[in-house]
Amino acid sequence: MIHMQLRYSFRLYPNGPQRAALARAFGCARVVYNDALRARETARAGGEAFPMIGDLSKLLITEAKKTEERAWLGGVSAVVLQQALRDLDAAYRNFFDGLKGKRPRMGAPRFKSRKDNWQSVRFTTNARWKITTGGDLSLPKVGNVRVKWSRNLPSVPSTVTVIKDAAGRYFASFVVETEPEHLPETDSVVGIDLGLGHFAVLSDGTKVDAPRFLRRAEKKLKRAQQSLSRKVKGSKNRTKARVKVARAHGAVADARREFHHQLSTRLIRDNQAVAVEDLAIKGLARTRLAKSVHDAGWSAFIAMLEYKSARHGRIFYRIGRFEPTSQVCSVCGVKDGPKPLHIREWKCGACGAALDRDINAAVNVAKAAGLAVSACRAQVRRAPVPAQRDEAGTHRDGQLTVAGIPVLRAGSGSQSAVSCRRA
Ligand SMILES: [Zn+2]
Repeated sequence: MIHMQLRYSFRLYPNGPQRAALARAFGCARVVYNDALRARETARAGGEAFPMIGDLSKLLITEAKKTEERAWLGGVSAVVLQQALRDLDAAYRNFFDGLKGKRPRMGAPRFKSRKDNWQSVRFTTNARWKITTGGDLSLPKVGNVRVKWSRNLPSVPSTVTVIKDAAGRYFASFVVETEPEHLPETDSVVGIDLGLGHFAVLSDGTKVDAPRFLRRAEKKLKRAQQSLSRKVKGSKNRTKARVKVARAHGAVADARREFHHQLSTRLIRDNQAVAVEDLAIKGLARTRLAKSVHDAGWSAFIAMLEYKSARHGRIFYRIGRFEPTSQVCSVCGVKDGPKPLHIREWKCGACGAALDRDINAAVNVAKAAGLAVSACRAQVRRAPVPAQRDEAGTHRDGQLTVAGIPVLRAGSGSQSAVSCRRA
């Protein structure tokens, strides 16, 4: 049986004392991280052996708590401090693996600052955190924090990371071990062309645009950015405006993630196989289109398609483009040359099919993956269909779903502890 690790994030609403307790936890984890980094750098400079995590734990946590200047480390969960040491270990491992060419190169671990935009602490199982029957997140030495459950957890999570972002928002990110839950088989398959005109065009002719809730969030962000640019540098109003921009950014990111969840869930539910073009092949990322590519969040969306396929027994194809999809007629396969971007529709010179640029590309993507889609669907059709709004991602009528796919069977007591309520 394949086990999968999934990550689920939810907004947290700590009260005043809880925010203070979390600030202490962030601070203590940061101090231990920095102490360990200093110890390792000192050892390295002195040509000594790299201190092991067990030794660091004894020295920088257990022993340090007994000293006057680090006694306050006792005020937070010891697990949080242990995890800070593990984070540093992972940072070193990634750094060395980068040097060896095992993964992309990255910088050496750096000291953390209280001014960092991103603060986090991690609680593992032995920290004895839990989700209360009332649906709060109970954290050691912090208390029962209110959670806004936007989707259901498929099983009891093993780890929770509490994050505070640049906009001052708090999140709980749960790691959940789960087994694949295959959906009933279907005959449908789909090719997806990700584009700039529409977010996605499907080989069945559906054109999917960003939903209204996302466009609204984007508009709000734009207004906030414009307002910020008009504020005098160093002024109080500018600081306020900057917080507003950070919040609006967060709202856009949330709305986009929600949209990606809805669409990917629908595609995986409705199709046995999905094919999508490899974005590296698409070659847009380094062009002036880079910003819109980045904004569209294609890679996050593709990652969702991939993990949901694995999870629900669907087949996922990432295809490399063997030739520009707009040059090949998806009906007869004849390549009739490049067409400038403004040409959205044309008639195939060989077979006479009236082709829509985006749908033609989506059909070609499906065909390149070896999927049997009907090529006539590439022919021009009107009436674009918007993405469904009600696609879940939240649960309705007490029905348990994860992003629209039923996952949690009527369950054991431990599962009901994580079954969620609407905040
Ligand atoms: Zn043709």
